[in-house]
Amino acid sequence: MIKAKQIVKKFESGTNVLFAVNHVDLIVPKGQFITITGRSGSGKSTLLYQLGLLDKPTSGDIELAGRDVINMSEDERTFYRLSKLGYVFQDYAILPSLTALENVLLPLLMLGLPDADARRMATDAMVRVGLEDKLINYPSQLSGGQQQRVAIARAIAHDPEILFADEPTANLDTETSDMILELFLKLHKEGQTIVMVTHEKDYAEKADRIIELADGKIVRDETLRRN
Ligand code: ADP
Ligand code: MG
Repeated sequence: MIKAKQIVKKFESGTNVLFAVNHVDLIVPKGQFITITGRSGSGKSTLLYQLGLLDKPTSGDIELAGRDVINMSEDERTFYRLSKLGYVFQDYAILPSLTALENVLLPLLMLGLPDADARRMATDAMVRVGLEDKLINYPSQLSGGQQQRVAIARAIAHDPEILFADEPTANLDTETSDMILELFLKLHKEGQTIVMVTHEKDYAEKADRIIELADGKIVRDETLRRN
């Protein structure tokens, strides 16, 4: 599902050059749940952004589901991101002026799906995250954990090839974090390929495979279970 070769992301300021991602090779089979772990500043988010097409590497090749995504035009990349990938961030990134259902619906409508299909898919996604009774609530009426579940519903509504998550539990208390992790595990059981960044060891170890970064390099790549 993911084939990344010699990924480099370099940040330069004045005479300083920082290799945030330093020649990373990574192959992720379809259906695998991997976690990217490591200390703060080790390059986890930067690597996730390169793999998730939220940024362009300085050099290297990336194939997602058999497609060369590096040499795509900007328009193709944007459409690919919207139609084939899903993202969950630490801060939920949902819009306060829209209801929960509208937040999930919006990207589907941006994809050009007919209204009825988009509504059905958005509602299904809200059911899958266990929020079928919160469709018309606004984010301010939801707890942090519920807001993150709305964000997850939005990320999975279009049945993405890959779900990317960057520290999805970082803002949540332990009990709520456990619930969010259980939700990722459930989606994984349903076949979802997942790449999740987390600095929490307990969560990292629930995945099929752990990648650990230090100074932008993979220093550990351990398969914990095969599916
Ligand atoms: P992590 O997510 O593991 O905490 P990051 O991927 O955010 O680490 O950052 C890796 C390194 O790259 C850090 O040293 C960070 O300061 C640097 N970095 C990240 N983004 C930028 C940027 N846009 N410009 C300059 N340096 C950056
Ligand atoms: Mg980070």
